[in-house]
Amino acid sequence: PKFEDFKLNRQLWDAISEAGYDKPTPIQQKAIPLALAGHDVLGIAQTGTGKTAAYVLPILMKVKYAQGRLPRALILAPTRELVLQIEEAVQQLGKNTDLRYVALFGGLGPKTQIEKLQEGVDIIISTPGRFMDLYRKEAILTKEIKTMVMDEADKMLDMGFLPQIRAILEVIPVKRQNLLFSATFGSKVERLSEEFLEFPERVEV
Ligand code: AMP
Repeated sequence: PKFEDFKLNRQLWDAISEAGYDKPTPIQQKAIPLALAGHDVLGIAQTGTGKTAAYVLPILMKVKYAQGRLPRALILAPTRELVLQIEEAVQQLGKNTDLRYVALFGGLGPKTQIEKLQEGVDIIISTPGRFMDLYRKEAILTKEIKTMVMDEADKMLDMGFLPQIRAILEVIPVKRQNLLFSATFGSKVERLSEEFLEFPERVEV
């Protein structure tokens, strides 16, 4: 399999090869076509498998160009470190697009993050807590969010983020695509996926 087999576009194929990716990893082979086809996806994959690009590429393809001021995709991750790593992947794979994105996390004042949101972003990458803080400050308008990713869902649950995740899912549109990635698939992740995913395609590596 080759990246050219996926229904991506020139900007993304070029960025993939500039990133030095030769061929899709197993999780990418399984998850990318399903995500591009609009399915909800439940991906069981560890760090190091290429899981980030497995959901970032379909998002970049779906969101495509900078448009308006409202975010259209939301990626949730448990920690600031992971949010920053995901931002790097979005930057690298989205380098030939005009898409705008912001990384939101706690531990520092919200001023810069709020300013960036006001300038307009297409993709938000955030920890659950900071997303709800900024939503409650009315810094985030959610009505155009059509794709939601939960990365390292098992870790988010272990860290006690379920209430924030539930709150977020209450304030984003019901009609949306959901992509959930987790290193493990225990009963908590299973319940989360039953609660929030619609007929998910399950992929595992
Ligand atoms: P992840 O599992 O998403 O944390 O990715 C682990 C590492 O693999 C990152 O440094 C990626 O840049 C890299 N990577 C992702 N996809 C590929 C690929 N298809 N070929 C080579 N490296 C990749």
